[in-house]
Amino acid sequence: MKVGIVGAGMVGSSAGYALALTGTASEVVLVDQNEKLAMAQAEDIAHATPFHSATKVNAGGYEALVGAGIVILACGVSQKPGETRLALLERNADVFRQVVGEVLAVAPECILLIASNPVDVMTDITTRISGLAPQRVIGSGTILDTARFRSLLGRHLGISPQSVHAYVLGEHGDSEVLSWSNALAGSVPVASVAAQMGRPLTQEIRDRIDDNVRNAAYRIIDGKGSTYYGIGAGLARLVKAISLDQRAIFSVSIVTPDVEGVSDVALSIPRVIGAAGVLMDLFPDLDDGEHAALLKSARILKEKASSVRL
Ligand code: ADP
Repeated sequence: MKVGIVGAGMVGSSAGYALALTGTASEVVLVDQNEKLAMAQAEDIAHATPFHSATKVNAGGYEALVGAGIVILACGVSQKPGETRLALLERNADVFRQVVGEVLAVAPECILLIASNPVDVMTDITTRISGLAPQRVIGSGTILDTARFRSLLGRHLGISPQSVHAYVLGEHGDSEVLSWSNALAGSVPVASVAAQMGRPLTQEIRDRIDDNVRNAAYRIIDGKGSTYYGIGAGLARLVKAISLDQRAIFSVSIVTPDVEGVSDVALSIPRVIGAAGVLMDLFPDLDDGEHAALLKSARILKEKASSVRL
């Protein structure tokens, strides 16, 4: 499948690199208002492919996206000194209005994958301005938080993160909800596995894992300025699920009709992903504390999204 990426900065180029190395896409096209940057990233990534895959990597204008089945939106502007978060969001909404129009003019059948932050609000905005069905406007949401949660649980239990089934729900950000009550290792609740292994999940350990998941991005940004490899790999994984119609389950963000009584809010819950985008929502069974935390997260996101004038 041909995959377009608008925004050839750190996140967009990392996604392109992951797609090319894994051979997930037959062709990757990078588009950026900074044409020189897009060309340079495409050339650099293209030089990696002979070692691993036959993916073609190019840069171009929007017309180069003709035939793309998926377009990743990783473009955006950063905060100016003294600018409020809302003003920044409105400037990014303007960027997206222009970009989404250009993309859909040449690739009207594509699925949009949103990577720009705040991803849940940008997913809501993109759904509104595109007029597409929410199932085709998918925010990367908490895929990365979920990966971090699984990896930390796996490390504590001494088992592969791929054998841990656990999800982070709600906002990709401060109000996210680590769903402990239905976390499994294999088919066994993690608390039971931990007890059997003599490594109980004490409150102290749970708090430490929660902090590590919730604040990982802050620590990475503190150390290196921004985060991109993890999300790049996650985006490539979503592309694979769509292009191969895998019907695999990921915690991604789309505008959802009803979450804990909050209507039309974009946030993450586990969803089945296949060729048509999101095929089904899978609301997990939650305990009372998790229900309350998810409601809080949904309210926060609804308020943020509603504050953006389009
Ligand atoms: P991140 O770390 O999220 O990838 P960057 O600033 O590295 O952030 O990348 C964002 C990219 O989005 C930049 O390369 C920028 O040129 C691009 N961009 C911003 N506005 C537009 C636009 N209107 N059209 C296309 N690309 C854009």
